[in-house]
Amino acid sequence: MKDNNLFNKESSIYMGAQTIQEKCNIGIFGVEFDGTTSYKPGARFGPNAIRNASQCLETYCPELKKDLKDMKYYDAGSLILDFKNTESTLKNIYNGTKYILNKNLKPLIFGGEHSLTIGAVQALAERFPNLALIQLDAHADLRNSYQNNKYSHACTMRRCLELLEKNKIFQVGIRSGTKTEFDFMTENNQLINFKSCNKNNDIGNIFQILKNTPVYLTIDLDWFDPSLISGTGTPEPGGYFWQDFEHIIKALFEINIVGADIVELSPDLDISGVSSIVAAKIARSLIMTLDKTS
Ligand code: MN
Ligand code: MN
Repeated sequence: MKDNNLFNKESSIYMGAQTIQEKCNIGIFGVEFDGTTSYKPGARFGPNAIRNASQCLETYCPELKKDLKDMKYYDAGSLILDFKNTESTLKNIYNGTKYILNKNLKPLIFGGEHSLTIGAVQALAERFPNLALIQLDAHADLRNSYQNNKYSHACTMRRCLELLEKNKIFQVGIRSGTKTEFDFMTENNQLINFKSCNKNNDIGNIFQILKNTPVYLTIDLDWFDPSLISGTGTPEPGGYFWQDFEHIIKALFEINIVGADIVELSPDLDISGVSSIVAAKIARSLIMTLDKTS
């Protein structure tokens, strides 16, 4: 299949990205979808906000001691979606992820709402049957169905559970959900909930058990405190800060991340533009992490 059947190439690209995939080992694409958003929509504008904000970043990361200038990463554009329903959109996302994997690129997806992770994990789990999933999120996303939709952003982790082997989902910093979801997390040994993942905890030791496992990382930006990221559809007080993320990304740098996404940036809800800049900086850390494990 030609990539121009899958991706719209008319958008901007992430800072320093290639527009042809030769010699690259990371494939970025956007998913401009917020069809199941239950509170404030606007995540469809996330991918290009990340790309535009990336232009103001330095290419060098002092924490990881890496420079984007030394890396080759491809930006495929944003997926062409048919928008018929969530299921057909997830099929587009599955096909896009599969296309990137078949080119021997590691997918890095800019959302868009959290439901996109279902399509991406489906493609990754076919390639890596022992795939593990790390979720940074304020919300459990474990509802079986929400607003009559099994593929809602509020059901993402429940659907991913069905796609993965047992004990492969690591939920980090969840602080919001229904009683049923919290009971499910506590009782279901497929889920590990790290309530304390701030910079004072040794999360690196915990991730050591994933040393030989391919890992997909999904970052829902509402994991952060709303005072840092207000441009998200379902903000939740009591969140984390940049130093906590730095602490976690250093630990993730030591394991085998095979794909990642950044979801739920709703840029128009933050007129300062800071949310988009933080998201673009997270993308820089992820490019470096994905590049390192190639
Ligand atoms: Mn989420
Ligand atoms: Mn969330």
